[in-house]
Amino acid sequence: MRKGSMAVVAGLCLAAGTVLVLQRGWPSIAVALVPPPAIPADSGQCLADLSSSGLDYTPIGAFEEEGGCGLSGGVRLAGGPVALNQDFIASCPLATAFAEFEAQVLQPLAEHHFGQRVARVDHVGSYNCRPMRRAAFGTLSQHAFANALDISAFVLEDGRRVAIGEAWNGDGPDAAFLSDVARRACGVFRVVLTPDYDRWHAGHMHFDMGPSRRCA
Ligand SMILES: [Zn+2]
Repeated sequence: MRKGSMAVVAGLCLAAGTVLVLQRGWPSIAVALVPPPAIPADSGQCLADLSSSGLDYTPIGAFEEEGGCGLSGGVRLAGGPVALNQDFIASCPLATAFAEFEAQVLQPLAEHHFGQRVARVDHVGSYNCRPMRRAAFGTLSQHAFANALDISAFVLEDGRRVAIGEAWNGDGPDAAFLSDVARRACGVFRVVLTPDYDRWHAGHMHFDMGPSRRCA
């Protein structure tokens, strides 16, 4: 093979469903995407569980986008026991995890720290067809499967807003509350990333139900 050829010179299997294709002539690196959506085979059972969660949701049809993004067996969440600043679409595992998080983590901690409940969860998005920001070779984010949610603030019953970007690095009750929320959320979600993780998470917590396991 002559120097300078754009022919494919290597195909490496990195993990199930992920193929890295290298081409001669840096910086031309083509990446064939990506891990499969982390939707369990028993999504029917998941949807049954979701029906008893108390969440206000609507099932949505399966869809795919170019590049490997998409969703099947998902829902649009409009709220439930806690209000949302805006609807979001979610994989069923993410939706059931959110319900568990709200009931078992968020509200007990709000009662403990503030003597009141969280009335509204503010988020900045779930579905987004994009790679992970820190990943080499363009591995898709769990956001690409609506399997991740970025939460930016919690609004208490008295109307006070605890914003993660403002309170996380403080030393008062808001910071203690948020730290406890992140730590205990790790028992519900597969991945919890806080503002401590990197600059891209300075203003929110990232929760996802993907195959990785990380709390940072
Ligand atoms: Zn995120």
